[in-house]
Amino acid sequence: MPTTPSRRTRRTQLAEPEQELTTPAWAAPASRAPLAPFTIRRRQPGPHEVLIDILYCGVCHTDIHQVRDEWRRGVFPMVPGHEIVGRVARAGEAVTRWKAGDTVGVGCFVDSCRECTACRAGEEQYCEGEGGPTWTYGSTERGGTAPTYGGYSTRITVDEAYVVGIPKGLPAAAAAPLLCAGITTYSPLRHFGVQKGDRVAVVGLGGLGHVAVKLARAMGARVAVVSHSPAKRDDATRLGAEEFITARNAADLGRQAGRFDLVLDTVSARHEYDTGLELLRRDGTMVLVGLPEPAPLEARPLIARRRRLAGSMIGGIRETQEMLDFCGREGVTADVEIIPIQQINEAYERMLRSDVRYRFVIDLASLKA
Ligand code: NAP
Ligand code: ZN
Ligand code: ZN
Repeated sequence: MPTTPSRRTRRTQLAEPEQELTTPAWAAPASRAPLAPFTIRRRQPGPHEVLIDILYCGVCHTDIHQVRDEWRRGVFPMVPGHEIVGRVARAGEAVTRWKAGDTVGVGCFVDSCRECTACRAGEEQYCEGEGGPTWTYGSTERGGTAPTYGGYSTRITVDEAYVVGIPKGLPAAAAAPLLCAGITTYSPLRHFGVQKGDRVAVVGLGGLGHVAVKLARAMGARVAVVSHSPAKRDDATRLGAEEFITARNAADLGRQAGRFDLVLDTVSARHEYDTGLELLRRDGTMVLVGLPEPAPLEARPLIARRRRLAGSMIGGIRETQEMLDFCGREGVTADVEIIPIQQINEAYERMLRSDVRYRFVIDLASLKA
């Protein structure tokens, strides 16, 4: 991680509350309640912070899990949104990395302890400091008491060390989902060593899944999609998959057993894990990134071919920038459906029906109007 000021310095230099910026947003007032207009306050940028005018924010299935309090640690009112692309409006006087007018991104976390072994290794998402990483929404500000609010709002103030640059040439709306869906799938593909020619199966063709297909292809892998939605077959091919496996078709699955080096499970709903495990070759790895309700796990498919089961959570700031630069070079972005914020509740319903091709992205101009 590049040099950053100590927490004490940063906090004592934060702006006074009266200088806070009244900011329109949309929030879930309570667990499972529909989202509605809400007003939040953003701080003026401190010396090491930037104030970002948000242009676009992707809609991740995590937003739905959180708003419905499925992980049971929601903080309400909740302003979701952690796939943020915007333009730097103002930079604090000590900021060195960004300047007004830069197109930048903010992902799932906005701070961390900066001192633990994970932070020092540039894996801030696994911060072992008190409270772990400061999530972009649903956390308490580090060293403060205010809740953090996400990207379903018109602006955000973030320490420059937790901001990434969007490569020129990537369209802002289609790049926004890379801040979560992109890094969440890029990181395990890299960490588990996917090489040119490797066989990768992506389970679930949603926001994460469709970006995973593009990234794995761009890394030279031979990709298959495992989906419970037969209507997505043509899209899977268009996105770069060589094969389409119907998740509920035992014969289809049986033919593919033992063929894959890596399986990436992105499914958001409770499902059996053996289906994916059976696809792995001997010593292959299945990585869980989807976070549904718990489901039982059988030991047999793991034991049978010395397979491994792993998990992975987003990625650190350095790797997020690496991923964005990779996407810039390879021309990888998300397939997006741009919506005004006023359609957010309907968008959630459609995502729950797997009816999105393949990521909703909110145009925050709809909130400024
Ligand atoms: P999404 O766009 O809603 O896609 C989820 C996909 O899961 C759907 O498109 C569908 O694919 C499949 N699916 C949905 N319901 C299903 C069911 N009943 N049975 C079988 N498959 C079903 O969600 P997302 O934004 O990609 O997020 C996916 C999951 O990853 C969520 O649980 C989210 O919280 C989690 N997540 C984790 C991380 C991390 O760091 N690990 C980061 C971001 C998100 P098919 O139609 O192709 O079957
Ligand atoms: Zn997400
Ligand atoms: Zn830490």
